[in-house]
Amino acid sequence: MPRDRHVGRLVVAIDGPAGAGKSTVARRLAKELGYMYMDTGAMYRAFAWNVLQKGLDLSDEATLKKVLDDTMVNLIEKRGRLKVLLNGHDVTDKIRTPELSQMASRVSALKVVRERMVKIQREMGMQGGVVVEGRDIGTVVFPRADVKIFLDASPQERARRRYLEFQAQGKKVTLEQTLEEMIERDRRDKERKIAPLCKAEDALLIDSTSLEADSVVHQILQEVKKNMVKIINRESS
Ligand code: C5P
Repeated sequence: MPRDRHVGRLVVAIDGPAGAGKSTVARRLAKELGYMYMDTGAMYRAFAWNVLQKGLDLSDEATLKKVLDDTMVNLIEKRGRLKVLLNGHDVTDKIRTPELSQMASRVSALKVVRERMVKIQREMGMQGGVVVEGRDIGTVVFPRADVKIFLDASPQERARRRYLEFQAQGKKVTLEQTLEEMIERDRRDKERKIAPLCKAEDALLIDSTSLEADSVVHQILQEVKKNMVKIINRESS
């Protein structure tokens, strides 16, 4: 990992498809470790929101680049909640819709968008002490992350979890719609040319289909501790 990170402040990368439980697990893990939690999906969603607001044409790379150069996405913790700021504007509650999920998946397939987001993500995580969740964290953003996890679950279970979240938010979607949209988004994320969703060779695969979040967090914490001891031994020898 970056040479200037503090000893014992690791980079933990958690990748996987939608609804695998990455956010719940990453958030809890960050709290346990006293690390920063970085939700990279929220960053793509924030930019997708901007694209929709401005009515940008996704095939107009020059304009997208210009807008991206002036785009800053910040993730800040406020009263235990992660706030997503796009150029200082709070978009947290606007980006969790099925429409934004699909739009985020479309904009994130573009090279120009990924270049900007990956740059911001690396700057945010370069000191270590961070739990980063996304699709390409262990493969592209932090290929030398200290701990890499690929969190998966069956499509039915992932759709069920997402559906319950939508219900709790009062959103009117059916389980079938949720499953269909999720399969479509996974397909796009896996098949895109740049930084597709895939497990890094050296990532630990965890199937959370029949696991509680607590048990997944526990398993990852064991990995973190193992790696922390290894790094501390290496750096002190
Ligand atoms: O994680 P979340 O579902 O919020 O991500 C929204 C979309 O952003 C994903 O479907 C994916 O297309 C994109 N994404 C990505 N790379 C990441 C994180 C998210 O391409 N590291």
